Amino acid sequence: MAKEDTLVIHEIYASIQGESTFAGLPCTFVRTTGCNLRCAWCDTPQAFYGGTRMPRPAVLERALALDTPLVELTGGEPLIQPGAIELLRELCDAGKTVLVETSGEADVSRVDPRVHKIMDLKAPGSRESGRNRWSNLDHITARDEIKFVLSDREDYEWMRAIIREKSLVSRTPNLLASAVFGALATKDLVAWVLEDKLAVRVQLQMHKVIWSPEATGV
Ligand code: SF4
Repeated sequence: MAKEDTLVIHEIYASIQGESTFAGLPCTFVRTTGCNLRCAWCDTPQAFYGGTRMPRPAVLERALALDTPLVELTGGEPLIQPGAIELLRELCDAGKTVLVETSGEADVSRVDPRVHKIMDLKAPGSRESGRNRWSNLDHITARDEIKFVLSDREDYEWMRAIIREKSLVSRTPNLLASAVFGALATKDLVAWVLEDKLAVRVQLQMHKVIWSPEATGV
C-alpha cells in the first residue's frame, strides 16, 4: 500500500470543538501521530509518538461513522502525513464541513480550497517562531483562521507587529489569540487587545474549562 494511502492515527473521537470560530459545535476529531515541531507549551505531547498506521479508507469510515457535520483533522501535525491531503478532499466530498489544524510550518498549498485551515503563527515564546512558513500566507483566504498562542507580553507585541507587517486583516477576518494556560492570564490579554483596539478574537480553550487542563481524548 502506498504511503499516501495510509495515515498514522493517534485517536478518532467526537467531542465539541474547543477553539476557533467553530467553538462549541459538535465535531469529530481525527488526531494524527507525530509533529516536527516542539513548541515549549505544547499541550498534546502524547501525540508525538505511537499511534496506529491505518488505511485511509478505514480512517474515513471511522470519522464518518461518528456522524457529526463538522470534522477536524488535527495532531500532532496532520499535514506531515502523506495521506492527509487526500483524506481532507474525501471528507469534503462526503459533505462534511472540514477543518485542519496546522502548525504554520507545514506547506498548506495543496489543501483542498473547501477546507477551513486553522493555521498557527508561532510566537517567540513557543521557541519555534523561526519555523513559520511565511509563504503559507499566500494560501490563506477569508474562510481560514490564523491562530496565535501567547505566553507573555513579548509574544503579544510580536503578534501585534506581525498583524500589521503581513496585512493579516486583509487576508482573513478570523484572527484568533489565546493565552498559554497557566502562563498568561486571559484577562491581561483582553486588556491589551482593548487598549490597542486590535482586530483579534480572544479565545479560551473550552475543553480545558469544561473538563480539566490535563484531560485527553475530549
Ligand atoms: S505544532 Fe502543535 S503539536 Fe506540534 S509541538 Fe507545536 S503545539 Fe505541539
